[in-house]
Amino acid sequence: MALNRQVVFQVTMPALLVALAMLGTSLLGIRSINHLQADRDKIVSEHVRSLEAAQDLETELRHLRFHSFVYVMDKTPGRWAKVERDQIAFERILGEIRTRAVPEEKRVIEAIESGYHQYRTELQTSMQSTGRQTTADHLKWADSHPIRSLVIPCEELLTLNRKAMNDTAEESARQSDRARSRMILLGIIGVAGGLIGGSGVAWGLSRSITRLSVRLHDVHAHLDQEVGSLRLTAVGGNLQRMEQQVGTILTRVREVVDQLQRQECESLRAEQLAAVGQLAASMAHEVRNPLTSIKLLVGAALHGRCPEGLSTADLQVIHDEVGRLERKVQALLDFARPREGEHQPEDVGGIIQQVVDLVQQRLRQQAVSLLLELPPEPLTADLDRDQFKGVLINLIFNALDAMPSGGRLNIHLQREQPDRLRLAVADTGPGIDAAVVDRLFTPFFSTKLTGTGLGLSVSRRIVQAHGGSLTVSNQTGGGACFAIILPEGRMKDER
Ligand code: ADP
Repeated sequence: MALNRQVVFQVTMPALLVALAMLGTSLLGIRSINHLQADRDKIVSEHVRSLEAAQDLETELRHLRFHSFVYVMDKTPGRWAKVERDQIAFERILGEIRTRAVPEEKRVIEAIESGYHQYRTELQTSMQSTGRQTTADHLKWADSHPIRSLVIPCEELLTLNRKAMNDTAEESARQSDRARSRMILLGIIGVAGGLIGGSGVAWGLSRSITRLSVRLHDVHAHLDQEVGSLRLTAVGGNLQRMEQQVGTILTRVREVVDQLQRQECESLRAEQLAAVGQLAASMAHEVRNPLTSIKLLVGAALHGRCPEGLSTADLQVIHDEVGRLERKVQALLDFARPREGEHQPEDVGGIIQQVVDLVQQRLRQQAVSLLLELPPEPLTADLDRDQFKGVLINLIFNALDAMPSGGRLNIHLQREQPDRLRLAVADTGPGIDAAVVDRLFTPFFSTKLTGTGLGLSVSRRIVQAHGGSLTVSNQTGGGACFAIILPEGRMKDER
Protein backbone atom coordinates (compact mmCIF):
# COMPACT_ATOMS: atom_id res chain seq x y z
CA MET A 1 0.00 0.00 0.00
CA ALA A 2 2.85 2.36 0.94
CA LEU A 3 4.65 1.39 -2.26
CA ASN A 4 1.52 2.09 -4.29
CA ARG A 5 1.18 5.52 -2.75
CA GLN A 6 4.83 6.23 -3.52
CA VAL A 7 4.46 5.08 -7.15
CA VAL A 8 1.30 7.17 -7.58
CA PHE A 9 3.14 10.13 -6.09
CA GLN A 10 6.12 9.66 -8.42
CA VAL A 11 3.87 9.35 -11.46
CA THR A 12 1.42 12.14 -10.71
CA MET A 13 3.79 14.69 -9.21
CA PRO A 14 5.58 15.75 -12.44
CA ALA A 15 2.26 15.79 -14.34
CA LEU A 16 0.71 17.85 -11.54
CA LEU A 17 3.60 20.32 -11.64
CA VAL A 18 3.30 20.74 -15.41
CA ALA A 19 -0.48 21.16 -15.08
CA LEU A 20 -0.02 23.76 -12.32
CA ALA A 21 2.55 25.67 -14.39
CA MET A 22 0.12 25.62 -17.33
CA LEU A 23 -2.76 26.76 -15.15
CA GLY A 24 -0.68 29.62 -13.75
CA THR A 25 0.42 30.74 -17.22
CA SER A 26 -3.15 30.51 -18.55
CA LEU A 27 -4.47 32.57 -15.63
CA LEU A 28 -1.81 35.23 -16.25
CA GLY A 29 -2.66 35.22 -19.97
CA ILE A 30 -6.39 35.57 -19.26
CA ARG A 31 -5.70 38.38 -16.80
CA SER A 32 -3.58 40.36 -19.27
CA ILE A 33 -6.15 39.77 -22.06
CA ASN A 34 -8.89 41.06 -19.75
CA HIS A 35 -6.80 44.17 -19.00
CA LEU A 36 -6.19 44.79 -22.67
CA GLN A 37 -9.89 44.28 -23.45
CA ALA A 38 -10.92 46.74 -20.71
CA ASP A 39 -8.43 49.37 -21.93
CA ARG A 40 -9.58 48.88 -25.51
CA ASP A 41 -13.27 49.12 -24.55
CA LYS A 42 -12.53 52.37 -22.71
CA ILE A 43 -10.71 53.88 -25.69
CA VAL A 44 -13.40 52.71 -28.13
CA SER A 45 -16.24 54.15 -26.06
CA GLU A 46 -14.31 57.47 -25.81
CA HIS A 47 -13.90 57.53 -29.54
CA VAL A 48 -17.54 56.59 -30.15
CA ARG A 49 -18.67 59.47 -27.92
CA SER A 50 -16.32 61.91 -29.69
CA LEU A 51 -17.50 60.70 -33.11
CA GLU A 52 -21.16 61.02 -32.10
CA ALA A 53 -20.48 64.57 -30.82
CA ALA A 54 -18.72 65.49 -34.09
CA GLN A 55 -21.69 64.11 -36.05
CA ASP A 56 -24.15 66.02 -33.83
CA LEU A 57 -22.11 69.20 -34.37
CA GLU A 58 -22.30 68.73 -38.11
CA THR A 59 -26.07 68.14 -37.95
CA GLU A 60 -26.52 71.29 -35.86
CA LEU A 61 -24.34 73.15 -38.39
CA ARG A 62 -26.76 72.15 -41.16
CA HIS A 63 -29.77 73.28 -39.09
CA LEU A 64 -28.01 76.58 -38.33
CA ARG A 65 -27.23 77.14 -42.01
CA PHE A 66 -30.79 76.43 -43.07
CA HIS A 67 -32.51 78.45 -40.33
CA SER A 68 -30.07 81.39 -40.73
CA PHE A 69 -30.78 81.46 -44.48
CA VAL A 70 -34.55 81.31 -43.92
CA TYR A 71 -34.30 84.07 -41.30
CA VAL A 72 -32.35 86.38 -43.68
CA MET A 73 -35.20 85.96 -46.20
CA ASP A 74 -37.94 86.40 -43.56
CA LYS A 75 -36.70 88.35 -40.61
CA THR A 76 -39.47 87.51 -38.18
CA PRO A 77 -39.00 86.75 -34.47
CA GLY A 78 -40.30 83.21 -35.05
CA ARG A 79 -37.51 82.54 -37.57
CA TRP A 80 -34.95 84.13 -35.21
CA ALA A 81 -36.07 81.92 -32.35
CA LYS A 82 -35.19 78.85 -34.41
CA VAL A 83 -31.76 80.33 -35.26
CA GLU A 84 -31.17 81.07 -31.58
CA ARG A 85 -32.16 77.52 -30.57
CA ASP A 86 -29.73 76.08 -33.14
CA GLN A 87 -26.97 78.39 -31.91
CA ILE A 88 -27.48 77.26 -28.29
CA ALA A 89 -27.41 73.59 -29.34
CA PHE A 90 -24.29 74.18 -31.48
CA GLU A 91 -22.47 75.94 -28.65
CA ARG A 92 -23.41 73.23 -26.16
CA ILE A 93 -22.10 70.43 -28.39
CA LEU A 94 -18.95 72.42 -29.15
CA GLY A 95 -18.41 72.92 -25.40
CA GLU A 96 -18.68 69.15 -24.83
CA ILE A 97 -16.25 68.42 -27.62
CA ARG A 98 -13.77 70.93 -26.22
CA THR A 99 -13.70 69.27 -22.79
CA ARG A 100 -12.86 65.88 -24.31
CA ALA A 101 -10.58 67.10 -27.09
CA VAL A 102 -7.18 65.47 -27.63
CA PRO A 103 -4.29 67.84 -28.60
CA GLU A 104 -4.64 67.37 -32.35
CA GLU A 105 -8.40 68.16 -32.12
CA LYS A 106 -7.76 71.36 -30.19
CA ARG A 107 -6.41 73.14 -33.32
CA VAL A 108 -9.54 72.19 -35.32
CA ILE A 109 -11.81 73.30 -32.44
CA GLU A 110 -10.06 76.67 -32.37
CA ALA A 111 -10.74 76.98 -36.13
CA ILE A 112 -14.46 76.09 -35.54
CA GLU A 113 -14.69 78.67 -32.73
CA SER A 114 -13.12 81.37 -34.89
CA GLY A 115 -15.41 80.39 -37.83
CA TYR A 116 -18.43 80.50 -35.49
CA HIS A 117 -17.40 83.94 -34.28
CA GLN A 118 -17.11 85.15 -37.89
CA TYR A 119 -20.56 83.65 -38.66
CA ARG A 120 -22.10 85.48 -35.73
CA THR A 121 -20.55 88.80 -36.87
CA GLU A 122 -21.61 88.44 -40.50
CA LEU A 123 -25.12 87.34 -39.49
CA GLN A 124 -25.37 90.45 -37.28
CA THR A 125 -24.40 92.63 -40.25
CA SER A 126 -27.04 90.95 -42.41
CA MET A 127 -29.65 91.47 -39.71
CA GLN A 128 -28.94 95.21 -39.67
CA SER A 129 -29.23 95.69 -43.45
CA THR A 130 -32.57 97.20 -44.38
CA GLY A 131 -34.32 97.66 -47.67
CA ARG A 132 -36.02 95.24 -49.92
CA GLN A 133 -33.94 92.39 -51.21
CA THR A 134 -34.61 90.33 -54.28
CA THR A 135 -34.37 86.60 -54.76
CA ALA A 136 -31.06 87.15 -56.52
CA ASP A 137 -29.76 89.00 -53.42
CA HIS A 138 -30.85 86.12 -51.28
CA LEU A 139 -29.17 83.53 -53.49
CA LYS A 140 -26.01 85.61 -53.48
CA TRP A 141 -26.15 85.74 -49.66
CA ALA A 142 -26.70 82.02 -49.59
CA ASP A 143 -23.59 81.42 -51.69
CA SER A 144 -21.48 83.52 -49.38
CA HIS A 145 -23.32 82.19 -46.26
CA PRO A 146 -21.37 83.22 -43.13
CA ILE A 147 -21.49 79.56 -42.00
CA ARG A 148 -19.04 78.63 -44.78
CA SER A 149 -15.97 79.21 -42.60
CA LEU A 150 -17.40 76.63 -40.13
CA VAL A 151 -18.06 73.85 -42.60
CA ILE A 152 -14.46 72.88 -43.31
CA PRO A 153 -13.22 72.67 -39.69
CA CYS A 154 -16.39 70.76 -38.70
CA GLU A 155 -15.78 68.26 -41.51
CA GLU A 156 -12.14 68.10 -40.46
CA LEU A 157 -13.22 67.26 -36.90
CA LEU A 158 -15.49 64.52 -38.17
CA THR A 159 -12.69 63.13 -40.34
CA LEU A 160 -10.28 63.20 -37.37
CA ASN A 161 -12.76 61.25 -35.23
CA ARG A 162 -13.50 58.77 -37.98
CA LYS A 163 -9.77 58.21 -38.43
CA ALA A 164 -9.28 57.74 -34.68
CA MET A 165 -12.10 55.17 -34.71
CA ASN A 166 -10.50 53.32 -37.61
CA ASP A 167 -7.09 53.41 -35.90
CA THR A 168 -8.65 52.00 -32.71
CA ALA A 169 -10.43 49.27 -34.66
CA GLU A 170 -7.18 48.32 -36.41
CA GLU A 171 -5.21 48.37 -33.12
CA SER A 172 -7.92 46.23 -31.55
CA ALA A 173 -7.67 43.74 -34.40
CA ARG A 174 -3.87 43.67 -34.00
CA GLN A 175 -4.15 43.06 -30.26
CA SER A 176 -6.66 40.28 -30.82
CA ASP A 177 -4.22 38.68 -33.27
CA ARG A 178 -1.43 38.97 -30.73
CA ALA A 179 -3.57 37.46 -27.97
CA ARG A 180 -4.61 34.62 -30.26
CA SER A 181 -0.96 33.90 -31.15
CA ARG A 182 -0.04 33.88 -27.46
CA MET A 183 -2.84 31.47 -26.63
CA ILE A 184 -1.75 29.17 -29.47
CA LEU A 185 1.85 29.38 -28.20
CA LEU A 186 0.64 28.56 -24.70
CA GLY A 187 -1.25 25.57 -26.05
CA ILE A 188 1.86 24.37 -27.90
CA ILE A 189 4.02 24.85 -24.76
CA GLY A 190 1.38 22.96 -22.74
CA VAL A 191 1.37 20.03 -25.15
CA ALA A 192 5.19 20.02 -25.29
CA GLY A 193 5.41 20.27 -21.49
CA GLY A 194 2.91 17.42 -21.11
CA LEU A 195 4.85 15.31 -23.61
CA ILE A 196 8.21 16.03 -21.92
CA GLY A 197 6.78 15.46 -18.41
CA GLY A 198 5.02 12.27 -19.52
CA SER A 199 8.14 10.99 -21.26
CA GLY A 200 10.19 11.77 -18.12
CA VAL A 201 7.77 9.80 -15.93
CA ALA A 202 7.62 6.96 -18.45
CA TRP A 203 11.42 6.92 -18.69
CA GLY A 204 11.80 6.89 -14.89
CA LEU A 205 9.25 4.09 -14.54
CA SER A 206 10.81 2.08 -17.30
CA ARG A 207 14.24 2.45 -15.64
CA SER A 208 12.83 1.30 -12.28
CA ILE A 209 11.11 -1.63 -13.96
CA THR A 210 14.31 -2.60 -15.75
CA ARG A 211 16.24 -2.44 -12.47
CA LEU A 212 13.52 -4.47 -10.76
CA SER A 213 13.64 -6.92 -13.61
CA VAL A 214 17.41 -7.33 -13.21
CA ARG A 215 16.90 -7.95 -9.49
CA LEU A 216 14.16 -10.46 -10.25
CA HIS A 217 16.61 -12.31 -12.47
CA ASP A 218 19.21 -12.24 -9.67
CA VAL A 219 16.68 -13.63 -7.19
CA HIS A 220 15.69 -16.21 -9.75
CA ALA A 221 19.32 -17.26 -10.19
CA HIS A 222 19.63 -17.75 -6.42
CA LEU A 223 16.36 -19.64 -6.26
CA ASP A 224 17.51 -21.89 -9.09
CA GLN A 225 20.32 -23.11 -6.86
CA GLU A 226 17.75 -24.08 -4.21
CA VAL A 227 14.74 -25.39 -6.13
CA GLY A 228 15.79 -26.04 -9.69
CA SER A 229 15.12 -24.08 -12.86
CA LEU A 230 12.61 -21.22 -13.02
CA ARG A 231 11.92 -19.56 -16.38
CA LEU A 232 11.93 -15.75 -16.47
CA THR A 233 11.79 -13.75 -19.68
CA ALA A 234 12.89 -10.13 -20.18
CA VAL A 235 10.23 -7.72 -18.93
CA GLY A 236 11.17 -4.51 -20.75
CA GLY A 237 8.71 -2.19 -19.02
CA ASN A 238 5.71 -4.56 -19.18
CA LEU A 239 4.12 -4.16 -15.74
CA GLN A 240 1.62 -6.99 -16.16
CA ARG A 241 4.36 -9.38 -17.17
CA MET A 242 6.46 -8.23 -14.24
CA GLU A 243 3.56 -8.85 -11.83
CA GLN A 244 3.27 -12.41 -13.16
CA GLN A 245 6.99 -12.93 -12.68
CA VAL A 246 6.90 -11.56 -9.14
CA GLY A 247 4.02 -14.01 -8.50
CA THR A 248 6.11 -16.87 -9.88
CA ILE A 249 9.10 -15.88 -7.74
CA LEU A 250 6.87 -15.62 -4.66
CA THR A 251 5.53 -19.13 -5.25
CA ARG A 252 9.11 -20.33 -5.60
CA VAL A 253 10.15 -18.54 -2.43
CA ARG A 254 7.30 -20.23 -0.59
CA GLU A 255 8.43 -23.60 -1.95
CA VAL A 256 12.00 -22.90 -0.85
CA VAL A 257 10.86 -21.86 2.62
CA ASP A 258 8.68 -25.00 2.94
CA GLN A 259 11.53 -27.14 1.74
CA LEU A 260 13.99 -25.52 4.15
CA GLN A 261 11.54 -25.93 7.02
CA ARG A 262 11.07 -29.58 6.15
CA GLN A 263 14.83 -30.05 5.96
CA GLU A 264 15.28 -28.29 9.29
CA CYS A 265 12.65 -30.52 10.95
CA GLU A 266 14.28 -33.60 9.47
CA SER A 267 17.78 -32.58 10.55
CA LEU A 268 16.51 -31.67 14.03
CA ARG A 269 14.85 -35.04 14.32
CA ALA A 270 17.98 -36.77 13.05
CA GLU A 271 20.04 -34.75 15.53
CA GLN A 272 17.69 -35.66 18.35
CA LEU A 273 17.74 -39.35 17.41
CA ALA A 274 21.53 -39.25 17.29
CA ALA A 275 21.54 -37.48 20.65
CA VAL A 276 19.20 -40.08 22.14
CA GLY A 277 21.52 -42.76 20.77
CA GLN A 278 24.51 -40.98 22.32
CA LEU A 279 22.68 -40.59 25.58
CA ALA A 280 21.74 -44.28 25.59
CA ALA A 281 25.35 -45.20 24.81
CA SER A 282 26.70 -42.93 27.51
CA MET A 283 24.11 -44.22 30.00
CA ALA A 284 24.98 -47.83 29.10
CA HIS A 285 28.66 -47.03 29.62
CA GLU A 286 28.02 -45.26 32.91
CA VAL A 287 25.74 -48.03 34.16
CA ARG A 288 27.89 -50.89 33.01
CA ASN A 289 30.95 -49.96 35.15
CA PRO A 290 29.19 -49.91 38.53
CA LEU A 291 27.12 -52.95 37.55
CA THR A 292 30.28 -54.86 36.64
CA SER A 293 31.87 -54.03 40.01
CA ILE A 294 28.72 -55.08 41.88
CA LYS A 295 28.34 -58.24 39.77
CA LEU A 296 31.95 -59.30 40.44
CA LEU A 297 31.65 -58.81 44.19
CA VAL A 298 28.25 -60.48 44.50
CA GLY A 299 29.38 -63.34 42.19
CA ALA A 300 32.48 -63.96 44.31
CA ALA A 301 30.35 -64.18 47.46
CA LEU A 302 27.81 -66.47 45.77
CA HIS A 303 30.36 -68.93 44.44
CA GLY A 304 32.17 -69.29 47.71
CA ARG A 305 35.23 -67.39 46.70
CA CYS A 306 34.80 -65.30 49.84
CA PRO A 307 34.23 -67.82 52.63
CA GLU A 308 33.90 -65.11 55.22
CA GLY A 309 31.35 -63.29 53.13
CA LEU A 310 31.73 -59.80 51.74
CA SER A 311 33.99 -57.46 53.69
CA THR A 312 32.87 -54.03 54.84
CA ALA A 313 35.07 -52.51 52.16
CA ASP A 314 33.35 -54.62 49.50
CA LEU A 315 29.97 -53.65 50.80
CA GLN A 316 31.07 -50.01 50.76
CA VAL A 317 32.07 -50.40 47.08
CA ILE A 318 28.66 -51.89 46.27
CA HIS A 319 26.97 -49.12 48.20
CA ASP A 320 28.95 -46.41 46.37
CA GLU A 321 28.30 -47.95 42.97
CA VAL A 322 24.59 -48.24 43.66
CA GLY A 323 24.65 -44.57 44.73
CA ARG A 324 26.34 -43.64 41.45
CA LEU A 325 23.71 -45.55 39.52
CA GLU A 326 20.98 -43.81 41.43
CA ARG A 327 22.45 -40.38 40.68
CA LYS A 328 22.69 -41.14 36.97
CA VAL A 329 19.09 -42.27 36.83
CA GLN A 330 18.05 -39.21 38.85
CA ALA A 331 19.85 -36.87 36.41
CA LEU A 332 18.02 -38.44 33.51
CA LEU A 333 14.72 -38.19 35.35
CA ASP A 334 15.47 -34.55 36.25
CA PHE A 335 15.96 -33.75 32.64
CA ALA A 336 12.84 -35.55 31.48
CA ARG A 337 10.67 -34.23 34.30
CA PRO A 338 12.25 -31.25 36.11
CA ARG A 339 11.14 -31.02 39.69
CA GLU A 340 9.37 -27.96 41.00
CA GLY A 341 11.90 -25.67 42.69
CA GLU A 342 11.46 -24.36 46.23
CA HIS A 343 12.39 -20.71 45.96
CA GLN A 344 13.41 -18.62 48.89
CA PRO A 345 15.64 -15.57 49.43
CA GLU A 346 19.26 -16.67 49.38
CA ASP A 347 22.59 -14.87 49.62
CA VAL A 348 23.97 -15.53 46.11
CA GLY A 349 27.58 -14.77 47.15
CA GLY A 350 27.28 -17.35 49.96
CA ILE A 351 26.13 -20.08 47.55
CA ILE A 352 28.97 -19.26 45.15
CA GLN A 353 31.46 -19.54 48.01
CA GLN A 354 30.09 -22.99 48.97
CA VAL A 355 30.31 -24.26 45.38
CA VAL A 356 33.86 -22.93 44.99
CA ASP A 357 34.87 -24.81 48.16
CA LEU A 358 33.51 -28.00 46.59
CA VAL A 359 35.57 -27.66 43.40
CA GLN A 360 38.84 -26.50 45.02
CA GLN A 361 40.45 -29.91 44.66
CA ARG A 362 39.74 -30.17 40.94
CA LEU A 363 41.02 -26.62 40.43
CA ARG A 364 44.30 -27.62 42.02
CA GLN A 365 44.51 -30.86 40.02
CA GLN A 366 44.10 -28.96 36.75
CA ALA A 367 46.35 -26.05 37.79
CA VAL A 368 43.53 -23.61 37.26
CA SER A 369 43.74 -20.39 39.27
CA LEU A 370 40.56 -18.83 40.57
CA LEU A 371 39.65 -15.16 40.50
CA LEU A 372 36.58 -14.73 42.68
CA GLU A 373 35.02 -11.27 42.63
CA LEU A 374 32.14 -10.91 45.08
CA PRO A 375 30.66 -7.58 46.20
CA PRO A 376 31.27 -6.52 49.82
CA GLU A 377 27.55 -6.42 50.58
CA PRO A 378 25.37 -9.56 50.34
CA LEU A 379 23.22 -9.75 47.18
CA THR A 380 19.98 -11.66 47.51
CA ALA A 381 17.83 -13.57 45.00
CA ASP A 382 14.81 -15.87 45.29
CA LEU A 383 16.42 -19.24 44.58
CA ASP A 384 16.08 -22.97 44.86
CA ARG A 385 19.48 -23.40 46.48
CA ASP A 386 20.14 -26.96 45.18
CA GLN A 387 19.06 -26.21 41.63
CA PHE A 388 21.16 -23.03 41.55
CA LYS A 389 24.17 -24.90 42.94
CA GLY A 390 23.68 -27.49 40.18
CA VAL A 391 23.72 -24.74 37.52
CA LEU A 392 26.87 -23.21 38.95
CA ILE A 393 28.66 -26.56 39.26
CA ASN A 394 27.76 -27.37 35.67
CA LEU A 395 29.17 -24.04 34.42
CA ILE A 396 32.35 -24.44 36.46
CA PHE A 397 32.88 -28.06 35.34
CA ASN A 398 32.36 -27.06 31.71
CA ALA A 399 34.93 -24.28 32.16
CA LEU A 400 37.37 -26.75 33.73
CA ASP A 401 36.73 -29.24 30.89
CA ALA A 402 37.71 -26.44 28.49
CA MET A 403 41.01 -25.86 30.34
CA PRO A 404 42.57 -29.36 30.70
CA SER A 405 46.09 -27.93 30.83
CA GLY A 406 45.41 -25.12 33.26
CA GLY A 407 44.18 -21.57 32.98
CA ARG A 408 42.17 -19.08 34.95
CA LEU A 409 38.59 -19.29 36.15
CA ASN A 410 36.90 -15.99 36.86
CA ILE A 411 33.64 -15.84 38.84
CA HIS A 412 32.19 -12.37 39.12
CA LEU A 413 28.99 -11.27 40.89
CA GLN A 414 27.64 -7.73 40.75
CA ARG A 415 24.44 -5.68 40.77
CA GLU A 416 23.93 -5.08 37.03
CA GLN A 417 21.16 -2.50 37.26
CA PRO A 418 18.60 -1.75 39.95
CA ASP A 419 16.88 -5.05 40.88
CA ARG A 420 19.09 -7.17 38.56
CA LEU A 421 22.10 -9.34 39.47
CA ARG A 422 24.74 -10.58 37.05
CA LEU A 423 26.84 -13.64 37.69
CA ALA A 424 29.54 -14.38 35.12
CA VAL A 425 31.63 -17.56 34.87
CA ALA A 426 34.53 -17.02 32.47
CA ASP A 427 37.47 -19.18 31.50
CA THR A 428 40.63 -18.93 29.41
CA GLY A 429 39.83 -22.02 27.31
CA PRO A 430 39.34 -22.07 23.50
CA GLY A 431 35.96 -20.32 23.68
CA ILE A 432 32.86 -21.32 21.71
CA ASP A 433 33.14 -22.19 18.05
CA ALA A 434 30.87 -19.90 15.99
CA ALA A 435 29.52 -22.96 14.16
CA VAL A 436 28.06 -24.47 17.35
CA VAL A 437 27.08 -21.39 19.33
CA ASP A 438 23.42 -21.62 18.22
CA ARG A 439 23.13 -25.25 19.30
CA LEU A 440 24.90 -24.94 22.64
CA PHE A 441 21.67 -24.88 24.69
CA THR A 442 19.96 -27.58 22.61
CA PRO A 443 19.37 -30.79 24.61
CA PHE A 444 21.88 -33.58 23.92
CA PHE A 445 24.31 -31.29 22.12
CA SER A 446 27.81 -32.16 23.27
CA THR A 447 31.30 -32.08 21.84
CA LYS A 448 32.66 -34.29 24.59
CA LEU A 449 33.15 -38.02 24.23
CA THR A 450 31.30 -38.84 27.42
CA GLY A 451 29.12 -35.71 27.58
CA THR A 452 25.36 -35.97 27.90
CA GLY A 453 24.73 -32.54 26.34
CA LEU A 454 22.08 -31.91 28.98
CA GLY A 455 23.99 -29.59 31.30
CA LEU A 456 23.47 -26.26 29.55
CA SER A 457 19.88 -26.92 28.40
CA VAL A 458 18.86 -27.94 31.94
CA SER A 459 20.78 -24.98 33.41
CA ARG A 460 19.04 -22.51 31.11
CA ARG A 461 15.65 -24.05 31.95
CA ILE A 462 16.36 -23.65 35.67
CA VAL A 463 17.59 -20.05 35.35
CA GLN A 464 14.52 -19.14 33.29
CA ALA A 465 12.31 -20.72 35.95
CA HIS A 466 13.95 -18.23 38.34
CA GLY A 467 12.88 -15.34 36.08
CA GLY A 468 16.39 -14.88 34.69
CA SER A 469 18.43 -15.61 31.59
CA LEU A 470 21.58 -17.58 30.74
CA THR A 471 23.65 -16.45 27.74
CA VAL A 472 27.10 -17.12 26.36
CA SER A 473 29.71 -14.99 24.62
CA ASN A 474 33.36 -15.23 23.70
CA GLN A 475 35.75 -12.93 25.55
CA THR A 476 37.95 -10.58 23.55
CA GLY A 477 41.09 -12.03 25.17
CA GLY A 478 39.91 -15.61 24.47
CA GLY A 479 37.78 -18.06 26.41
CA ALA A 480 34.05 -18.38 26.99
CA CYS A 481 31.90 -16.36 29.36
CA PHE A 482 28.52 -17.62 30.60
CA ALA A 483 26.38 -14.88 32.15
CA ILE A 484 23.36 -15.39 34.41
CA ILE A 485 21.01 -12.45 34.96
CA LEU A 486 18.66 -12.82 37.94
CA PRO A 487 16.02 -10.57 39.49
CA GLU A 488 17.27 -9.26 42.80
CA GLY A 489 15.27 -10.38 45.84
CA ARG A 490 15.10 -9.29 49.48
CA MET A 491 15.88 -11.15 52.65
CA LYS A 492 12.80 -11.93 54.74
CA ASP A 493 13.69 -9.40 57.45
CA GLU A 494 14.20 -6.66 54.78
CA ARG A 495 10.64 -6.98 53.49
P1 ADP B 1 28.15 -31.58 28.12
O1 ADP B 1 29.03 -30.86 29.11
O2 ADP B 1 27.64 -32.88 28.65
O3 ADP B 1 28.77 -31.73 26.78
P2 ADP B 1 26.62 -29.20 28.19
O4 ADP B 1 25.22 -28.92 27.79
O5 ADP B 1 27.01 -28.80 29.56
O6 ADP B 1 26.84 -30.73 27.92
O7 ADP B 1 27.59 -28.49 27.17
C1 ADP B 1 27.34 -28.59 25.82
C2 ADP B 1 28.59 -28.25 25.02
O8 ADP B 1 28.89 -26.87 25.16
C3 ADP B 1 29.85 -28.93 25.47
O9 ADP B 1 29.94 -30.22 24.93
C4 ADP B 1 30.93 -28.02 24.94
O10 ADP B 1 31.15 -28.29 23.58
C5 ADP B 1 30.27 -26.67 25.00
N1 ADP B 1 30.75 -25.89 26.17
C6 ADP B 1 30.14 -25.72 27.35
N2 ADP B 1 30.86 -24.93 28.15
C7 ADP B 1 31.97 -24.56 27.46
C8 ADP B 1 33.13 -23.76 27.77
N3 ADP B 1 33.29 -23.15 28.96
N4 ADP B 1 34.06 -23.62 26.79
C9 ADP B 1 33.91 -24.21 25.61
N5 ADP B 1 32.85 -24.98 25.27
C10 ADP B 1 31.90 -25.19 26.19
